[in-house]
Amino acid sequence: MFIHDDSIKKFDKKIWLASPTMHGEEQKWINDAFDKNWITTAGENINIVEKEIAEYIGRKQAVALSSGTAALHLAIKLAAEKLYGMPQVGHGSLEGRRVFCSDMTFDATLNGVLYENGNPIFIDTEYDSWNMDPVALEKAFEIYPDVKMIVVAHLYGTPGKIKEIREIADRHGALIIEDAAESFGAKVDKVQTGCFGDYSIISFNGNKIITGSSGGMLLCDDVEDANKIRKWSTQSREDAPWYQHEELGYNYRMSNIIAGVVRGQLPHLEEHISQKKAIYERYKEGFKDLPVKMNPIPDNTEANYWLSCMIIDQDAMCQTVRGEKKAIYNAESGKSCPTEILESLMSYNAEGRPIWKPMHMQPLYRMHPFVTSLGNGRAKSNAYIKESGMVDVGVDIFERGLCLPSDVKMSSEEQNIIIEIINRCFI
Ligand SMILES: *Cc1c(COP(=O)(O)O)cnc(C)c1O
Repeated sequence: MFIHDDSIKKFDKKIWLASPTMHGEEQKWINDAFDKNWITTAGENINIVEKEIAEYIGRKQAVALSSGTAALHLAIKLAAEKLYGMPQVGHGSLEGRRVFCSDMTFDATLNGVLYENGNPIFIDTEYDSWNMDPVALEKAFEIYPDVKMIVVAHLYGTPGKIKEIREIADRHGALIIEDAAESFGAKVDKVQTGCFGDYSIISFNGNKIITGSSGGMLLCDDVEDANKIRKWSTQSREDAPWYQHEELGYNYRMSNIIAGVVRGQLPHLEEHISQKKAIYERYKEGFKDLPVKMNPIPDNTEANYWLSCMIIDQDAMCQTVRGEKKAIYNAESGKSCPTEILESLMSYNAEGRPIWKPMHMQPLYRMHPFVTSLGNGRAKSNAYIKESGMVDVGVDIFERGLCLPSDVKMSSEEQNIIIEIINRCFI
């Protein structure tokens, strides 16, 4: 139960979940684009960020696009065409085909599946990394052996069990689209996320570990694939004196101004990661006497610590009910819940956020199948899960977890106040 303390002052300046952190070089490369008048979707900044990021991640090709969502869309479309052939103009390349998708993720992970008229099937989450459960994925292949595409995300900057997922995908002849939007710089056994998909993507949205204000990138190894994506993203213009079109196009290319921001941010990626890691460690230490745990980071991985998250022990949860758009809870001594903690933080001008609500709980996807490690399952309350012994990990993490203020500009003094507020929630 949160007990207000008058000696804690409300923050004058809002403490953000994750806001852009600029360093100055970004302005230099924007100015460079102005000076050279490359104020378009071509120019040196684009060429350089493509080259530098491909090298940094360890892929042969990187294509700069307008957003991570656009990168996912084209990655999914390219994979679909490899698997199922070229669609009629105006028809989705997936046309009702089933695609296995991460369940606890941000909606953009699978928007591209829907844009291409595919049919997402959600795969439950596991507790070790809060990402796609390989056991549930294997179950899903038993139920739907025809599936040939897996779209998998690394949530909050912690890599999932991507090697196990790769092994399963290979055994079933499926392609992997890897959504590393949140995990740029994170590694599995020293290999960068972004290396594990047949096609992978990262994002430069304003809240990500480094930003371009917006923007994204598709990563692959085949130069022809990369050039095809470049062509699709610039309206599929054929090599002809006039506008000649053989394929449907998109206006998805990154602007050279945005690429300038990314170019200036890139040298600061590792600095941001170490600052984010320090934030995670301070929370961990600050919560050591509370009935909570930090989001888990598997031993063979290096996270980028994009967002620090916590999960409340089952028996320290106060009674709470979440409707579609509102939540209520009972303040109980010695216990708390995500809503109470988020409201307490907000009352001091600090921003946290609920865990990304699993896709199988979203009204938009209520008709779509959801597979848990025990086989088929649909959204059930935590109480139901407990009673029935059914495992629906996504619901459980959503009900007990939350994302903490993780802005790299937050000072350790400010973070200590956040920690104090959260400690007071369990009085
Ligand atoms: C941010 C994000 C995206 C989308 O990236 P945008 O650049 O904002 O379009 C996709 N997937 C995940 C998991 C994300 O967090």
